[in-house]
Amino acid sequence: MTTPLKIDIGRLQGEIDSLALISENPPPVVTRVLFSEADLAARARVKDLCREAGLALREDAVGNIFAHWEGTRRAAPAIATGSHIDAIPNAGKYDGVVGVLGAIEAIRALRRIGFQPGRAIELIVFTAEEPTRFGIGCLGSRMMAGALAREKIASLRDSDGRDLEFWRRQAALGGDLDSVRLRDGAFGGFVELHIEQGPMLERENLAIGIVEKIAGPSSLRLRLTGVGGHAGAVLMPERHDALLAGAEIALAVEKAALSSGSPDTVGTTGVLRIEPGAVNSVPCRALLEIDLRDTNPVTRDAALAQIEAAAERTCHQRGIGLELERVNVDAPALCDPGLVELISRVCQDLEVSSRKLISRAYHDTLFMARMCPVTMIFIPCRGGVSHRPDEYAGPEQIQKGVLVLAETLRRLAE
Ligand SMILES: [Zn+2]
Repeated sequence: MTTPLKIDIGRLQGEIDSLALISENPPPVVTRVLFSEADLAARARVKDLCREAGLALREDAVGNIFAHWEGTRRAAPAIATGSHIDAIPNAGKYDGVVGVLGAIEAIRALRRIGFQPGRAIELIVFTAEEPTRFGIGCLGSRMMAGALAREKIASLRDSDGRDLEFWRRQAALGGDLDSVRLRDGAFGGFVELHIEQGPMLERENLAIGIVEKIAGPSSLRLRLTGVGGHAGAVLMPERHDALLAGAEIALAVEKAALSSGSPDTVGTTGVLRIEPGAVNSVPCRALLEIDLRDTNPVTRDAALAQIEAAAERTCHQRGIGLELERVNVDAPALCDPGLVELISRVCQDLEVSSRKLISRAYHDTLFMARMCPVTMIFIPCRGGVSHRPDEYAGPEQIQKGVLVLAETLRRLAE
């Protein structure tokens, strides 16, 4: 009979609450854009907690943090866990954070019972899971998997035109970006704890979701250039209105997603910015950012092609200039059946209710899946709400998630 693990949820909740105060906006709003002052301060706090937990720290050239607990079998690849602490503007305090601070508490719980890992355990805090600064998500894990070309990295710009090199200097990060790429076999497995960001677990009153599949995300950026002019003076037949072309394209996104043939295709035009943005002026420029995802890459890619063709047709008909950029087109990920079964068994043994499910949001696990066997542990969040200040997961729910993570790490690292 192995010693049961105990999670100190009081301490963990305190750490979650106090990290939430490190934000670019007053509470309860959490905003931590990549390498902002708040993001850097939050990273420093997490590094302190890792050191206190006796972990050895390493940071790579793009700021991914690795906190290492050495195992007795040094030749065996480490078991990894982790998530992110960056947050989109106006977000809440649990997305990503539960998987980082929860993993630190899981490691402390293992230490408290005197556990000594055979395989090393490594906590990873990924850089820029959220696409806040450069419009591309999972920057850190994407680079770890070698899934971002050098030219693409060099072309990244934020809304003020600053590149990654500028922000690396701000964050005091040096080193060759090529070195971020991990060698194959660097990890023996990766398990990420995360809030569900969907309503299923709460609806079914279940404590844990075990992720079998992660939908593949893609996104497009379209710059439309029309002809502006006075809203009174330019007559209708003479117009090349960038907004109207953008609006037609947004409707084409909806149509492509609805008619793809897969129930999992979802398409969203989340950004439509026009210039000059005055009531008496014909919009001369429009910027659209489109997100399209699916668990099936075939139907997703067909819908993507349909949207691109519609954009070209619309702009041609309306005499609008079009610059179309595929920001990312990522494959869906299949989780490792062995890891999914292991966590199922852990839940049974701990008498915690669970089910298997699909993650429709993407996570760093999507890219870790290219390097090692992966899965995710989901816990319910109130109303399925996320990316909002009222995002909430109860202490009991967090405690169960961290317990399942800790027990999983014990079995994997033994
Ligand atoms: Zn997240």
